[in-house]
Amino acid sequence: MKNKSSRALRFLGSFGAIVMAVVLIALRVTSCAPVRAPAPRPLPAPLAVPRPTPKPAGDACAEGPAAAATGNRLSLPALVWAPFARPETGWETYAPLIAREIATPCAPDTPGFAAALAAWQARQGLPADGLMSEAVFIRLKGLVQMRRPFVQLSARRVCPDAPAESALALATPLEGYAGKAIQLRPGALAAYRRLAAAARAEDPRIAEDPRNLTIFSGYRSPEADAARCAQEGNCNGVVRATCSPHRTGLAVDLYVGQTPGFGPDSSADANRLAMSRGATYRWLVGNGDRFGFLPYPFEPWHWEWTGEAP
Ligand SMILES: [Zn+2]
Repeated sequence: MKNKSSRALRFLGSFGAIVMAVVLIALRVTSCAPVRAPAPRPLPAPLAVPRPTPKPAGDACAEGPAAAATGNRLSLPALVWAPFARPETGWETYAPLIAREIATPCAPDTPGFAAALAAWQARQGLPADGLMSEAVFIRLKGLVQMRRPFVQLSARRVCPDAPAESALALATPLEGYAGKAIQLRPGALAAYRRLAAAARAEDPRIAEDPRNLTIFSGYRSPEADAARCAQEGNCNGVVRATCSPHRTGLAVDLYVGQTPGFGPDSSADANRLAMSRGATYRWLVGNGDRFGFLPYPFEPWHWEWTGEAP
């Protein structure tokens, strides 16, 4: 009797397991099954962004090598160089990023800035003259760029696959620039929302123009980019045609202002300079990484969320 009932119990147990397995398989393959978001891919490398430095008390920015400060003041609007393979004049557009990287709150033409630059140069094993130059910027740009997981992959000649479009989240019309429909990976959209809310709360100059920090480009399918490249002859130096970070669903182009006569994504030097002087871009440089967003130095509007691997 005992033997019989334990056999019956074993039979019931096996039967139950089979029924469970069939139900689970049915749930996975039928279209009404709940869609499970794919597990986020882990971040490939730790990020080390220098912490911003608070404004010093008194006039600490007046202390430092005066000759280097004079050299920087003269080159700031006049340096003839090509930091992104395109001739440019002056380096003021990059001053906010440089100041963040060398951890100084001082303006680029001050002795305090020159002192911070000299200290950074020494740490980098460069001649510590406190002078900004193309060679110094190239080193600094390399550090900023290589924090971007997408750039780390590009350096290994890897182009990440685009996510399934069904796994993307849709921003609200208010979040898109001029109501544009924007798709991003859910984690990137959530992080963007935290960033935008903090920026508007922390700097009233950002809050006063509702266009600030709206998104004018998010996820772009590789196919759409290739088609646009072919139709418009606008291949953005083949990046758009081959492998744009916008295919990852992690990159955003944010409205950070514009100067009359230019669009919010115009890479004209005058437009980028005006953006770099604005409160929105400066807040992003100082705070974007708090929310996992890292910059592309050439385009003040382009930021990439680093909370998931591309
Ligand atoms: Zn972009």
